[in-house]
Amino acid sequence: MARVSPHTVGLVTVLVAAGASALILAERRGPRTIEAGFWFEPVSYASTRIGGTLTPADLHTISAVARAELVAAFEGLGITVTDKRQAPYRVQVVQEVRDPRTRRDMKVAGQSRGVPGIGGIGTVSFSFFASGATVYAPESATRDTLITAIGRGIGRGAVHEFTHQLLPKAAIHASRDPASYEYSSAARPEQFFGDMRWNLARPLLQARLGW
Ligand SMILES: [Zn+2]
Repeated sequence: MARVSPHTVGLVTVLVAAGASALILAERRGPRTIEAGFWFEPVSYASTRIGGTLTPADLHTISAVARAELVAAFEGLGITVTDKRQAPYRVQVVQEVRDPRTRRDMKVAGQSRGVPGIGGIGTVSFSFFASGATVYAPESATRDTLITAIGRGIGRGAVHEFTHQLLPKAAIHASRDPASYEYSSAARPEQFFGDMRWNLARPLLQARLGW
């Protein structure tokens, strides 16, 4: 069974400095509605803990659970979750994500880059969250519970990455609440189980988007 190494747990973010055009857009008035593109690339996972390989039906469930997590997190913020790959802000679920800051073969939960007022792109790792769900699940967890936990972990990871893109200058990792979207590490039981809440970023998002 794959393990989540302590050395691979950080959510990595590469920030891109704001351009002059971003400053102009930032001066818009009134609530803004933006589109957040979210989709899965072809991914797979196999583990004895789930009795073999994920089926197409499992992947459908995981995608639906992840999308529901995003919709719930962004409710009331004017952020529409879509599968459009040309959306200004977008996160794609890929098999693995490597740390862009190092030449070492370091696998991480996700990464993003964003330009204030313009958009952003990011990825989250299917392997990271699939293995994480099995690591943090109680021994008694059923297969259905594990499948749902994978989707929950991915969705919450995507919320974290979109938040980096929307607030590229904000130190969202300052949240010390392990049950918050902003928390610096995805290697935690709360990523997969129980309720998750906002910490410092939601009021910043409300101010940023005018809601
Ligand atoms: Zn982060």
